[in-house]
Amino acid sequence: MTYIVTLIPGDGIGPELSEATVGVLEATGIGFAWEVQQAGEATIASEGTPLPERVVESIRRNGVAIKGPITTPVGTGFRSVNVGLRLALELYANVRPARSMVGVESRYTDVDLIIVRENTEDLYAGVEHRVGPDAAESIKIITRAASQRIARYAFEYALRNGRRKVTAVHKANIMKLSDGLFLESCGQVAAEYAGRVEFEDRIVDNMCMQLVQKPERYDVLVLPNLYGDIVSDLAAGLVGGLGVAPGSNIGETAAVFEAVHGSAPKYAGQNRANPTALILSSALMLRHLGETAAADRVESAVRSVIADGRVTTHDLGGRAGTREFASAVAERVRGT
Ligand code: NAD
Repeated sequence: MTYIVTLIPGDGIGPELSEATVGVLEATGIGFAWEVQQAGEATIASEGTPLPERVVESIRRNGVAIKGPITTPVGTGFRSVNVGLRLALELYANVRPARSMVGVESRYTDVDLIIVRENTEDLYAGVEHRVGPDAAESIKIITRAASQRIARYAFEYALRNGRRKVTAVHKANIMKLSDGLFLESCGQVAAEYAGRVEFEDRIVDNMCMQLVQKPERYDVLVLPNLYGDIVSDLAAGLVGGLGVAPGSNIGETAAVFEAVHGSAPKYAGQNRANPTALILSSALMLRHLGETAAADRVESAVRSVIADGRVTTHDLGGRAGTREFASAVAERVRGT
């Protein structure tokens, strides 16, 4: 069986990381056919848009994509490709695991969080306008349908993966209507899972403090879009930074796997960036495809190469390049 996967190399460090990730995936022995689709800075000049329709069509056709980071040019009027893809393909769940790793320096050793971020509405719906020359409004959209859908995803994820608790994160004390509706919707869904998965809620500012003080108390977090974006970077910081934080964007009919980090232009083309986050994102893709054993092999290969400490990238205090690290991981995948 060969999986046809859309591969978007992306901008900045994206092409190097994509190449590294393809090498590791091919080491699993599973058959892949890569449908390479350029998007981002390169296609603005050649096709007049950073997100040509053919890219969306390719993902629709194949159902899965691996995506390198894409630069969002400031002030050009183009919408973020990342946000555009999530909306075009209705990738409503952004799932970002944050798990401590031996060999990655951090203040904690026992973090194991799953951030489930609603990906289609809130302040990212893109409804904003100027109100005269000196004021602007961005509209925060929260619906019961999207809130229940993301809450259900979080609870189903918890059940499937043996997780014990879901925490809904909000600011319903201030945004009583919008965040109030999010919280109410999560509570309604939680009632269906009573006795199987615990439920609690936290106000987002308190949540940030709690995560920094006692991250081990939390398990699966479910959040509206903006808080999810911010808290997932905080969670990445708890386990050693953006270089090791994977992610996935899941919809009913398509899924896009990408690192939490951006295109880090200062490291582009230098064989210096850490491919761990994209490689771990590709392991999430293997899991999504039902290739659980291969996903376990890729994850444990990454973990053991990093734990050994002989071949690690600069951000983790090592001297290996992107390619050398990826080769070491691929070799270990082949050997398991
Ligand atoms: P960034 O994640 O690119 O970089 C933040 C810091 O982390 C920098 O110091 C960078 O060098 C470092 N870093 C990031 N990834 C790394 C890796 N794999 N290995 C080693 N170090 C790494 O964030 P930014 O600088 O705010 O954004 C740069 C561009 O990326 C912007 O245009 C932004 O819009 C875009 N972006 C894209 C995505 C995406 O495609 N999903 C996500 C975030 C940001």
